[in-house]
Amino acid sequence: MDLFEYQGKELFARAGIPVPAGRVARTPEQAVAAAAELAPGAAVVIKAQVATGGRGKAGGVKVVPAPAGADAVSNVAAEILALSIKGEPVGALLVEAAAGIEAEYYAAVTFDRRAGAALFLLSATGGMEVEEAPEGAMASVHVDPLLGLTAYQVRDLVFTAGLAAEARTDAFGLLPKLYRLFVDADASLVEINPLALTASGQQRALIALDAKVTVDDSALYRHPDIAAYHGTRRLAPQEELAAAAGLNFVKLDGDVGIIGNGAGLVMSTLDVVSQAGGAPANFLDVGGGAGADVLSSALEVVLAGQVRSVLVNIFGGITRGDAVAGGILEALGRTRVEVPIVVRLEGTNATEGRAMLAAAHHPNVRTAGGMMEAARMAVEAR
Ligand code: GDP
Ligand code: MN
Repeated sequence: MDLFEYQGKELFARAGIPVPAGRVARTPEQAVAAAAELAPGAAVVIKAQVATGGRGKAGGVKVVPAPAGADAVSNVAAEILALSIKGEPVGALLVEAAAGIEAEYYAAVTFDRRAGAALFLLSATGGMEVEEAPEGAMASVHVDPLLGLTAYQVRDLVFTAGLAAEARTDAFGLLPKLYRLFVDADASLVEINPLALTASGQQRALIALDAKVTVDDSALYRHPDIAAYHGTRRLAPQEELAAAAGLNFVKLDGDVGIIGNGAGLVMSTLDVVSQAGGAPANFLDVGGGAGADVLSSALEVVLAGQVRSVLVNIFGGITRGDAVAGGILEALGRTRVEVPIVVRLEGTNATEGRAMLAAAHHPNVRTAGGMMEAARMAVEAR
């Protein structure tokens, strides 16, 4: 689950990471009221709330200079609300007191799966051009999950990245809080870009001007407060369909759609399809005891992707072969199917199921005797 910036900043604030004072607005009028309340007469920043990066470059982040009058705020708000950023319409704005920026840094925690550890990243060159930063500009350390981010690692990061001397004390306090939040929220990414060094008079302070937080969907049950942030799930339409049907679905890169019952059987189905020279388009487990309804929504989900054939591999235990066949036939009645569907049925009522499929004489449905044969048929049928 990708959080909107304002939601990420709520988590930052709770974790003790400084963020600008801000309000969410959904209309130009609300933006005007927010600006008047936050920084009467001073400059404000108005930011599109979309769950995608690169808003700055797309015109989704605008500073209204002081004195930020009602007309100016209202115009800029209307302008940003009319935008669509990378296909996502802007539904909300974050209005913040503008900061005087002296330097823009980058800080993030993510997983390095190969190392099996969290990776902390810090760079003195942040902001919108962070991708173009010179190689080696990013300081990084792997964090031992048992030790946590240690004080010497924090120092190493700050000095290696080369943050300004005025930023060090704040950074020493802030970086451990960012790591703590990463762990506590079961995040897979927390990113601050820019982490700004701001100046007001002689005072220098580090403040998070942006927040990007991705929380592991599988851990949301432990975070009812985060799960309650609605409207931020960014699922592909096919995944949306699968989630709505309560199916265990993972999209893959190939073109042979896979439906099976039980994670183990589905995984071995992926293997035999690869062995037969094909590439699976997905993992889809209909679970135990799946009836006609589940089977038919599973087929709809798989056919919603780019597949050139589908392999249905069911071993009936609680799941009955006739119910499976009924589901396939029902789905074929509901959706137009243009690709071949190879069905391998074993176990409870498999004979009945196979007979139902044979009797239906659907031009696209074929039955297979064994698993390997089914895989070969599905791969050759493409
Ligand atoms: P992104 O482009 O989606 O990552 O959006 P950001 O929130 O990172 O904003 C993009 C840029 O807008 C930042 O790199 C800053 O340069 C600028 N910006 C954001 N907030 C402020 C602010 O409070 N004051 C000023 N002066 N600039 C800001
Ligand atoms: Mn940013």
